[in-house]
Amino acid sequence: MTAIYEPSRSIGAKISRRLTVYRARRDLKFKIDRPVVSFTFDDCPKSAITNGISLLENEGWHATIYIAGGLLDVENHHGKMMSIHDVRRLDRKGHEIGGHTFSHRDASSTELNRFLSDVERNQKFLKTNGIRPGKSFAYPFGEVSPALKTALSKNFIGLRGIRSGIHKGVVDRNQIRSYPVFSSKGMDDVIEAINNLKKNRSSWLTLFTHDVRQTPSDWGCTPEEMKTLISAVKKSGAMVLPISNAIEYLKDHEL
Ligand SMILES: [Zn+2]
Repeated sequence: MTAIYEPSRSIGAKISRRLTVYRARRDLKFKIDRPVVSFTFDDCPKSAITNGISLLENEGWHATIYIAGGLLDVENHHGKMMSIHDVRRLDRKGHEIGGHTFSHRDASSTELNRFLSDVERNQKFLKTNGIRPGKSFAYPFGEVSPALKTALSKNFIGLRGIRSGIHKGVVDRNQIRSYPVFSSKGMDDVIEAINNLKKNRSSWLTLFTHDVRQTPSDWGCTPEEMKTLISAVKKSGAMVLPISNAIEYLKDHEL
């Protein structure tokens, strides 16, 4: 197993990440009567299907799964990853197969044009394998720059980041916020956010995780935590939609 890569945590990198939130935005202002929640799974481990997506299917819900073609079939810190057959099955069941980079390169370590070619490579890989590439994209490791936000906005309806927060009546479609569903961080913040949807009906909340298993990585959760989330979402009365469908819905209710 190779060492786990993580982008820089320097002060400079942190400041630049904070500023990027305010730049190259594509704001969508909306008014809805019922909150919307989107479940997303990144990369993507097989355990996400067995212990996460199948539970959503039991509720009649669909998810967005961000696939990096180059990670299929490998085994890493998230456990065994999906095969192309798994991805095809998810697509056929009506889940959104979202865009990612093919080799899971992130924007902080890759020159812009190279990054964009890797995104294109992933889209082509999905199409070649008979999978409909989704209209949304997730930034690997959440790494993003204003130039990248602008470049990808031409090809995707929405771009998901990893900064948490609820979209109350407005969302930057170039950097959609998402709550981490990580055992390592605890579930309190995300459960509180879901419970708050009752008070903020005109809201969209997205969630993201990786592996779902008894002993998850630092970026995954347990099957029990997934069940707790699902029951909190049910209690909130929210509608559950994949990212692209959620955006289409919000666009229908644009102010
Ligand atoms: Zn990823």
